[in-house]
Amino acid sequence: MVDYLVVGLGLAGISFCETLERNGKSFRVISDHSQKASTVAGGLYNPVILKRFTLSWRAHEQLTILPAFYAGLEKKLGVALDHPLRVLRRFVSAKEQNGWFEASDKPGMGELMSTDLISNTNPSIDAPFGYGEVLGTGRLDTELLQEAYRQYLVKKDLLVPETFDFDALELPETGVVYKDVQARQIVLAMGFGLKQDLYFNYLPLNGTKGELLTVKAPKLNETRVIKSSVFIIPLGDDLYRIGATYKWQDKTHLPTEAAREELETKLRSFLKCDYQVVDHVAGIRPTVADRRPLVGRHPAYKDLYVLNGFGSRGVMIAPYASKALYGFIESGKELPRDMDIERFRKRYEKHGAV
Ligand SMILES: Cc1cc2nc3c(=O)[nH]c(=O)nc-3n(C[C@H](O)[C@H](O)[C@H](O)COP(=O)(O)OP(=O)(O)OC[C@H]3O[C@@H](n4cnc5c(N)ncnc54)[C@H](O)[C@@H]3O)c2cc1C
Repeated sequence: MVDYLVVGLGLAGISFCETLERNGKSFRVISDHSQKASTVAGGLYNPVILKRFTLSWRAHEQLTILPAFYAGLEKKLGVALDHPLRVLRRFVSAKEQNGWFEASDKPGMGELMSTDLISNTNPSIDAPFGYGEVLGTGRLDTELLQEAYRQYLVKKDLLVPETFDFDALELPETGVVYKDVQARQIVLAMGFGLKQDLYFNYLPLNGTKGELLTVKAPKLNETRVIKSSVFIIPLGDDLYRIGATYKWQDKTHLPTEAAREELETKLRSFLKCDYQVVDHVAGIRPTVADRRPLVGRHPAYKDLYVLNGFGSRGVMIAPYASKALYGFIESGKELPRDMDIERFRKRYEKHGAV
């Protein structure tokens, strides 16, 4: 008998397991490699929506717990995951500059948006209107986190590396049984794999495909993240990640020629030096119709929970949502209404799960 069975080992599953471990709970994990979002993610944490110059959802609360959470994982796993990086938003006009400074004046924004106009000094980038800087930003190496955490669980014999078989799940009145595992609760943290989930597939998870390139650009010499029509994220060794695309129809993990062309066209519109594409990856972001996470208890089964819907901000949301779900299950703390799946109860009553 364990306290929890967790399905999925992306940012959601890892953050929840970590929350369990820190609270002395026992658990077992089942995960395959059918979803790739946490493997391919750019890994940026940045509290400002750089299109509209507004704060992302509950950013202050998330940033309060983020550094210590990932620092704890770094210490435990013995790897460097959190790389603080400056994020610069490239302006395309004087109007945009003004918009930035107006936004930085709004309540709660001053500590996250610098009021300095930063001039471009990098000859490999075209940025005549300069940049605005977001504060407190960085990149989490999500691929390394996933691999290191997987190995950690394997060593402790806590990971079953297989596809979850919904037919083998039993939900008696109390607790759950899955093959030879008995648990008090089960948490499904399957990213876009929720579409195969027999219990929560009534939830409006859309899924948005994203593709990223890795390029080698020895003459770029940039240590900051540059956000223009695409992001340039420095990885070290003259390597940069370029992304990402947003596509709503294609739900495969296959990199496409069209996306590569789109990313390169956007990149060339402001990058002035040569580069070579060395990698190209794709994944599906677990995006939700109302852009809020999907967290909470199943309407009909009291020991069945979901942790999903982190969209394009998994790095910031995962520790926050995991903490909220844990507090809800263990201490009956109310979930913030806007991420609680209770908001879709009518949908469940109307359609049920398939
Ligand atoms: C191109 C791209 C760029 C991104 N960039 C950023 C970024 O810069 N910053 C940021 O914060 N976020 C970014 N994201 C979003 C981020 O990746 C997601 O929000 C986050 O990874 C979602 O984590 P998750 O654990 O919910 O889902 P996933 O990462 O998809 O993990 C789900 C896990 O469950 C497993 N699973 C699914 N179904 C089953 C099953 N039936 N049986 C067993 N296991 C199963 C999967 O194999 C996987 O291990 C990006 C996403 C993409 C695609």
